[in-house]
Amino acid sequence: MSIRVGFGFDVHRLQAGRPLKLGGVEIPAEKGALGHSDADVLLHSICDALLGAAGMADIGHHFPDTDMRWKDADSRMLLAEVVRLIGTAGWRVGNVDCSLVLERPKIKPHLEAMKAEVAALLNVSLDAVGIKATTNEKLGYVGREEGVCAYAVALIERR
Ligand code: MG
Repeated sequence: MSIRVGFGFDVHRLQAGRPLKLGGVEIPAEKGALGHSDADVLLHSICDALLGAAGMADIGHHFPDTDMRWKDADSRMLLAEVVRLIGTAGWRVGNVDCSLVLERPKIKPHLEAMKAEVAALLNVSLDAVGIKATTNEKLGYVGREEGVCAYAVALIERR
């Protein structure tokens, strides 16, 4: 096959006093995401989509949360490493499309900056990066603002 598709999902708990990093961009918010790395749920879901498309083990395998190298790590570094890994296996990114799910704050003002970060990390043009954001209509853990989650699909092509 010369093209492959992959899917990724991630969730992080929200907590006051933590920074909220989404798509490599720090977003002003009352609560931020809790995690071993900077807890960038959007970049983590893209990592898993790419790794899954390449038939590789997931993000937790490559960057275990028991490894102090990834403590508070900038997830842009993790995504760059995933792009390198799939590259050595003969793949390049075609496009990605993602949905972020959180109640607050509004993501729209930050979407273009997030797309630019992701496109640069993936070595693709801006129109090859889709990022949407929706609330969870106040339902469940996302609705109670206890967490934020992200879904991503990625297409990869033979280099
Ligand atoms: Mg994660």
